[in-house]
Amino acid sequence: MSKWIIEKSAVMECSVYDEDLNFPLRNVYCVGRNYRDHAIEMGSNPDRDPPFFFQKTSDIILKDGGTLKYPIDTSSLHYEVELVVFISKNAFQIKASEAKKIIFGYSVGVDITKRDIQKVAKDSGKPWFSGKVFNGSAVLSNIIPISKSLEPDKIRISLRVNGEKKQESGCNKMIWNIYELISILSESIPLKAGDVIFSGTPAGVGKLKKDDSVLATLHQPNASSLNFKIG
Ligand code: MN
Repeated sequence: MSKWIIEKSAVMECSVYDEDLNFPLRNVYCVGRNYRDHAIEMGSNPDRDPPFFFQKTSDIILKDGGTLKYPIDTSSLHYEVELVVFISKNAFQIKASEAKKIIFGYSVGVDITKRDIQKVAKDSGKPWFSGKVFNGSAVLSNIIPISKSLEPDKIRISLRVNGEKKQESGCNKMIWNIYELISILSESIPLKAGDVIFSGTPAGVGKLKKDDSVLATLHQPNASSLNFKIG
């Protein structure tokens, strides 16, 4: 076998609930619109249109307890709380009824968005990339393995800014559930161990400003949470 011409890059990791274990992160997939109430607040069609995806890289993950420096090119930095699913086995074109077999666990995540830049991109038919993918634009809590977690439709997620509740929803309100999202994404992309999927945000998204403190929580008996600051 040929040698590698440069050293292979180290991967980002996410810690596991109640264990001294790290999960190695690979691709970060995100679904665009997956709760009716959020589709309506964004002026979009809340019907069950096929889901659409975009992608962040795992290199931009902001760690729990970290600080996101307010980016200079936006005046509308938004939070989006989301249930995140972690993939532990390779799978291509997997059925929704089989999807549970490739899930390692769940965390809560925040998909941070430059809403003004995303809107310009949307309105001019350009990709969402510049509004969605920037350093620190995805935050993850520690992962609750499925053996210690409720089913995703029994999980609730919430987000508070400076202690004030801004978002809260049951994950049963998703338009496309976790198993369906995995199946649909895997129709065209081979999912691999280490991939994660942000499953969309409920209503209540809003602006962050410098010095804000954000707390996002996955509510269930084995709860998980993350916090970060805007610096
Ligand atoms: Mn999102």
